[in-house]
Amino acid sequence: MKTIGILGGMSAASTQLYYAELCRLTRERLGGLHSPQLLIRSLDFAEIEALQARGEWSRAGEILNNEAKALERGGADVLILATNTMHKLGEQMMSGVGIPLLHIADATAQAIRDAGLERPGLMATAFTMEQEFYTGRLRDAGLEPILPNESDRAETHRIIYEELCKGISLPSSEAQYVLIASRLREAGADCMILGCTEVGMLLNQSNVSVPVFDTTLVHCAAAIEIALK
Ligand code: GLU
Repeated sequence: MKTIGILGGMSAASTQLYYAELCRLTRERLGGLHSPQLLIRSLDFAEIEALQARGEWSRAGEILNNEAKALERGGADVLILATNTMHKLGEQMMSGVGIPLLHIADATAQAIRDAGLERPGLMATAFTMEQEFYTGRLRDAGLEPILPNESDRAETHRIIYEELCKGISLPSSEAQYVLIASRLREAGADCMILGCTEVGMLLNQSNVSVPVFDTTLVHCAAAIEIALK
């Protein structure tokens, strides 16, 4: 079994979901007492969020790069960055790192294409929804992402930072998210990308009427495939 290096803590709420899901998938695949070989580096999200808010992306990229190198030195065979947003810095993070990064958008695009779908609604942070690093990558993979309108994007982003990243999931926010997802379906989405690793705290296949691709779960499944190959 290969060792998966997880660069997480962005937020800690979603890194816990990664750990639980990677353990669940390994048990499901191998049975018995099997569990995944992991190295988890969990950062202090308050520091990362402050850099995001100030637009100090290159400083954040240096931090990710140092952490990726540390995970490689620690024995990781493959890296996963447990946040969609910070994939904005994927290239800088991987500079001088010899092991591969399993990109969350690539894993998600592959899962959507395998399902024969092509117009995903995207609910994520404003950075992920509005900047080319993510939607461009989906388009390069042959998909046509559909974004929430401006006020729905702002509300989606607010709930992520003010609630989900703090481990808070409120019924009122779930109702908001369900409405936003249904407006995306009306706008032509044939599936939904939960494009932030915490959005699965509020949305899943039971409250969304089109096929749901939760990036956390998709990313974990793709990582376990690699680890067990
Ligand atoms: N975990 C989130 C994501 O998947 C947002 C937090 C962050 O900015 O890293 O984008």
